[in-house]
Amino acid sequence: MLPQEIVRKKRDGGVLSPEEIQLFVTGLTDGSVTEGQVAALAMAIFFQGLSVDERVALTLAMRDSGAVLDWSDIDAPIVDKHSTGGVGDNVSLMLAPALAVCGAAVPMISGRGLGHTGGTLDKLESIPGYQAKPDNALFRKVVKDVGCAIIGQTADLAPADKRFYGIRDVTGTVESIDLITASILSKKLSAGLQTLVLDVKWGTGAFMGSYDDAKALAESLVLVANGAGLKTTALLTDMNESLASAAGNAVEVQNAVDFLKGTHVDNRLWDVTVAIGGEALATAGLAKKPDVGREMMQQAFESGKAAEAFGQMVTALGGPADFMEKPEVYLPKAPLEVPVYAPEAGLVTKVDARTVGLAVVELGGGRTAPEDEVDPAVGLVHLAGVGSPVDSDNPLAIIHARNDDQVRRAQDVLLKAYSIGEAKDVADYDTIRDR
Ligand code: URA
Repeated sequence: MLPQEIVRKKRDGGVLSPEEIQLFVTGLTDGSVTEGQVAALAMAIFFQGLSVDERVALTLAMRDSGAVLDWSDIDAPIVDKHSTGGVGDNVSLMLAPALAVCGAAVPMISGRGLGHTGGTLDKLESIPGYQAKPDNALFRKVVKDVGCAIIGQTADLAPADKRFYGIRDVTGTVESIDLITASILSKKLSAGLQTLVLDVKWGTGAFMGSYDDAKALAESLVLVANGAGLKTTALLTDMNESLASAAGNAVEVQNAVDFLKGTHVDNRLWDVTVAIGGEALATAGLAKKPDVGREMMQQAFESGKAAEAFGQMVTALGGPADFMEKPEVYLPKAPLEVPVYAPEAGLVTKVDARTVGLAVVELGGGRTAPEDEVDPAVGLVHLAGVGSPVDSDNPLAIIHARNDDQVRRAQDVLLKAYSIGEAKDVADYDTIRDR
């Protein structure tokens, strides 16, 4: 069948067979299907949608467009989580080592930040020497020896998705739940996972702003992942304010080290990390139920074993051997630290987390285009959360910047992110609303 016939069929509301989808994905991968044809199919799918069976077929075809990792030499469940992205979301840095301590093997393939959302890889690359793109042998060795390795996407995994996403990005077709589902899951399936937990975020800082849209995405992801043979559950978590009290790169790594060492633990970050971990351990069969998994996570953190595993992973991937003892010596630090105060005293009633993320971009700590470099040293710390008092002693945040101009710009953006008022106006969100 010609690619244009496949486009026509979907344009007219038809249901594509697995063979037709496979044919299209083969052409997508080898370049024989043109950019125009890919864009046309993406737009047809955007309007006509895909059935669950079509989404499963697309996911599997994109998974098989490149290498699929095989972990059969490791005698532990192969586990990962995927977050749909947010602000101050450094959960992966604590979650991966804690899951490893609890008996899972975690080959975590993470992404870079774009727009207001941060990326785990950018954060880890603020650690001097950390190899986010190790060769396959080192990646395997670290997962085997330490139990977890957080690295970047390699070109040989799901190459069809890479081309498809690039075309969707410039043709207004990213925002299709069916295409997002196949895109996320093809990459996760190519990593050779046995179980997956999804952290689907909703709120002002999330990819899906409304709770209902996030729920629809979570349902699609869970249905399709399980249909494709990957045991998957999802949590819906709140992204109406930064999860950590820090947003940026090195500042989020420092926040994660403090969490792991127990010297400073942000409450919402703890709740989400422990909940995802509990779910992951139960899904993988390492805990009888999520409650038991949560207790195991708590123990992994409180015993210091998760901190130890994180340090081992950093060292094994090229970072300093004594990173956990003195992270502040190694993490880059911006020369200016300037507090930002609210124009009036009161309580934080609401935060626009997207705007907080944009303040980080304003400082040079995030990207507006995929090829941009990020500055690891800049960012925001001591972010006031919803319900916190702010006045002339208690700032909204402290800006870490390179120069005064950055401070001014970030300050202007940050002030727009915060609403200040009285106790009766404080927004009330559930950190974890649904699972
Ligand atoms: N993230 C992905 O990996 N793919 C999408 O399509 C959207 C977000």
